[in-house]
Amino acid sequence: MADRDGLIWLDGEMVDWRDAKVHVLTHTLHYGMGCFEGVRAYETDQGAAIFRLQEHTDRLFRSAHILGMEIPYTKEEINQAQKDAVAKNNLKQAYLRPMVFFGSEGMGLRADNLKVHVMVAAWEWPAYMGEEAKTKGIRIRTSSYTRHHVNITMCKAKANGNYMNSMLALREALESGCEEALLLDNEGYVAEGSGENIFIVRDGIIYTPELTSCLDGITRNTIFKFAADLGYEVKEKRITRDEVYVADEAFFTGTAAEVLPIRELDGRKIGSGVRGPITEQLQTMYFDQVMGKRNEYPEWLALVK
Ligand code: PMP
Repeated sequence: MADRDGLIWLDGEMVDWRDAKVHVLTHTLHYGMGCFEGVRAYETDQGAAIFRLQEHTDRLFRSAHILGMEIPYTKEEINQAQKDAVAKNNLKQAYLRPMVFFGSEGMGLRADNLKVHVMVAAWEWPAYMGEEAKTKGIRIRTSSYTRHHVNITMCKAKANGNYMNSMLALREALESGCEEALLLDNEGYVAEGSGENIFIVRDGIIYTPELTSCLDGITRNTIFKFAADLGYEVKEKRITRDEVYVADEAFFTGTAAEVLPIRELDGRKIGSGVRGPITEQLQTMYFDQVMGKRNEYPEWLALVK
């Protein structure tokens, strides 16, 4: 990843990809206190456009606020940095990674002289789990790892350190031959995937866990809007793993994963074991929307130039 051509926005400047470096004593590297975003730009008729840029930037600032980190840039500057990261690398479509981190000005938990740094990188990243997964769906397993408790870490922050839990769960799932993990909260209710929110469908009603231990996903919010537009009811409630077993349909949502059908959980087929009709409808709407093929919600696409 590090040894390639390109430009990365780092603390207000575009620097060569290979020179976008930090010191080994970078505070965030040691303790995980930092926050980031995962954002996508898509190829549209009018050029590359970032999907829901403002919402991602807003969440980045909320995450930093929760962690008590003051971003030394305005939201407009961070929006522009993301547009530039795509445009200056001549990308037609991209995955973007803005991150806010503490520098190497001090060490130890008590360090009080830390500077807040910001970087934005952008690169081409195709379908998160391959093209086939989008139509066939993926197999997942309930994780032996519990999702964060709301008062152990801050679940509304997309915080670097939170992702150790995600990686442990994902690696366990991959090692067992599945494609993703389903994490339960500390009371045993369904929370989310390692990097996705989950939805299930039963008798035409769409359900998703309440925002306690899961991330306030932007794709989740997009699905809420689409479901309302299509006349489906969406209920936020506690969901048990066996409710997922007996659901008619299930799918994950996330910027990287997009809208991804789940065909099996813990060896149990979900519904008929293929992408369900409501999942397909929402997924089609999602791809049309991000590629600028719908007239609704034009404010969700920010052209990079
Ligand atoms: N949950 C977790 C743990 C995630 O990392 C992500 C990806 N950001 C999501 C849910 C989905 O969020 P979004 O739709 O905003 O990408």
